[in-house]
Amino acid sequence: MTHSLSLHDITKDYGQGPVLSGISLDIQPGETVAVMGPSGSGKSTLLHCMSGVLTPTDGAVFFGETNIAQLSDAARSRLRLQHFGFVFQDGQLLPELTNVDNVALPAMLTGSSRGAARKRAQALLDQLGLGGLAMRRPGDVSGGQAQRVAIARALAAEPSIVFADEPTGALDQSTGHEVIQMLTTIVRQSGASLVMVTHDPKVADWMERRVEIRDGLVHDDRLVGGVRTGAPAAAQGGAR
Ligand code: ADP
Ligand code: MG
Repeated sequence: MTHSLSLHDITKDYGQGPVLSGISLDIQPGETVAVMGPSGSGKSTLLHCMSGVLTPTDGAVFFGETNIAQLSDAARSRLRLQHFGFVFQDGQLLPELTNVDNVALPAMLTGSSRGAARKRAQALLDQLGLGGLAMRRPGDVSGGQAQRVAIARALAAEPSIVFADEPTGALDQSTGHEVIQMLTTIVRQSGASLVMVTHDPKVADWMERRVEIRDGLVHDDRLVGGVRTGAPAAAQGGAR
């Protein structure tokens, strides 16, 4: 099921003045969007409001016909599990589970059998070049490999939208770029949309659209083309 995500004039105030001061955005199915802006400008807050992790102080967040800002906590959690995937900076994998079980878990939580969930998890790990590491634990693989496990997990329940908050912030640049290339490629293959907070203009070049947040508002919102192959921008021959 694919729906657009539509933010109507959302604000967020944690109690010390507004962090978001009225943001309206539409994310179309299959679109890839980079969210940029200075540190502290509210990028994570925006991502959390979009994805139903936080409720905005005011405004509406429509996923299809559903205003997720008005759902109960339980209904919002259920919607997140069924329709959204998440990749965080440090993976947040469960250290006591094997990689394949980490990936299988979200699908099992939405009702898949363990067998079916593990089969899909293994296929995703294979696709990300990690087939041989399925039975290892996250602590026994490199940081870049662990982020790829986290990417597989984000896609396991076949989400409509994948949200990523500086997913390579803890990796060196070249490993980070490899991970982003895999993330954008696999998300595009799945047909999901991708909303990614990033500081890295090169990473933003791989996305079709760039939204810049400043002073709690959308400062700039433009289509930048994106590199549909997921290949590094330099390989496309374009000076950027
Ligand atoms: P960014 O991701 O762009 O760095 P954040 O959304 O994390 O920005 O934070 C924006 C502002 O909101 C900052 O001033 C931060 O201190 C504040 N903030 C973020 N989370 C909370 C919270 N849970 N409680 C209070 N203030 C918060
Ligand atoms: Mg942040």
